[in-house]
Amino acid sequence: MPAINVLGVEDQHADAVMVHIESRASRPGCPECGTPAWVKDRPPVELVDLPCFGRSARLVWHKHRWCCPDPDCEMCSWTGEDPRIASVRGAMTDRAGRWVCEQVGRLGRTVAEVARELGCDWHTVNDAVVAYGVPLVEDPARIGEVRALGLDETLFCRAGRWRTQAWCTSIVDVSPGRSQLLDVVPRRRAAGPSAWLCARDEQWRQAIRYGVLDLSGPYRKTFDDTLPDATQVADPFHLVKLANSKLDECRQRVQNETLGHPGRKGDPLYPARRLLTKAHERLDERGNAKLRRLLEAGDPRGEVRMAWHAKEVARSIYEITDPALAGEFVDQLGQDLQDESCPPEVRSLGRTIARWRDQIVAWHQALVSNGPPASRPTAPDNHEQPHQAQRYDLKLWIGYLLGGAAYLPR
Ligand SMILES: [Zn+2]
Repeated sequence: MPAINVLGVEDQHADAVMVHIESRASRPGCPECGTPAWVKDRPPVELVDLPCFGRSARLVWHKHRWCCPDPDCEMCSWTGEDPRIASVRGAMTDRAGRWVCEQVGRLGRTVAEVARELGCDWHTVNDAVVAYGVPLVEDPARIGEVRALGLDETLFCRAGRWRTQAWCTSIVDVSPGRSQLLDVVPRRRAAGPSAWLCARDEQWRQAIRYGVLDLSGPYRKTFDDTLPDATQVADPFHLVKLANSKLDECRQRVQNETLGHPGRKGDPLYPARRLLTKAHERLDERGNAKLRRLLEAGDPRGEVRMAWHAKEVARSIYEITDPALAGEFVDQLGQDLQDESCPPEVRSLGRTIARWRDQIVAWHQALVSNGPPASRPTAPDNHEQPHQAQRYDLKLWIGYLLGGAAYLPR
């Protein structure tokens, strides 16, 4: 080892192996006047090092503290540093820092596990992972030009004694053909992604043509505030998810009203819950027959059936290829679903569709989405596209879909 002298190895049984070293640097000159420096003292600095012989180890660096011998010189004492051994304020050797960063960052080990292996404090490891990891991910060239930017709430972890959900916002480049995570910011509020976007330069933001979001206010506010010129696009995945959750609410309410208790095994609607939310084209004949039977038994006023059709019709928005037609379709659908004859859950879906009309229809221009390709709704092939059939009368066409003629025969 050309840079250091090993002064000794101290091996007290239960403790870590202590390796004492000094730097082999030659005597420096005073930075102020150039006079060859004197050693003032040799304070030992204990650093966490890589384990050796299967035991944790400490490197004790007897640093040189230098001073200027010239009494007229104003230079105070200074310490001889060597970043090859350890960074100035690091509590760990450089090689150990690189190693823990790889263990946690690349191999996905927990900080606690690595800290146990090194026989040191959790914070020592975490600080090193952050110090060595940040330069690896904060590469300014990492984020190139983005045409479509998606914001998506993501469950980050369940923390603490009550396993409380901690949410974060994923910022994703969803330009066509790409799905690249750019960053993650805390919480699912507008402030986090807004601050992130404000920190980017103006030119980069100007290049974003589409902002892709779920059907919720916070991200709409982020885009309104920070990307006023970008077209907002509602993610199809979230609209279908919303339609499914309204259907589920409706099933639970009907179940409760007809039986007087929440659903359980043996109730007719309870086993239908998965069949209901499944995409219709993915149900086979048996699934269809079973769903029909369960609805006949447990849905006396046809409300669940209505919510199910509403979900399927909402999905069919994405089968339409012509943007102008999609606009008419969504306008009509938003109105029809708010009709008094619909169950409350369906009316609520209708209100959301009406409120997000522009963002929903913008998808047909932009064709971008936050979801992975597999979660995007695909066009079912079991019924015709509206512009082939009743293009001249959308109201009739939606009524036809909602009445279920295209799906389940009454
Ligand atoms: Zn000096």
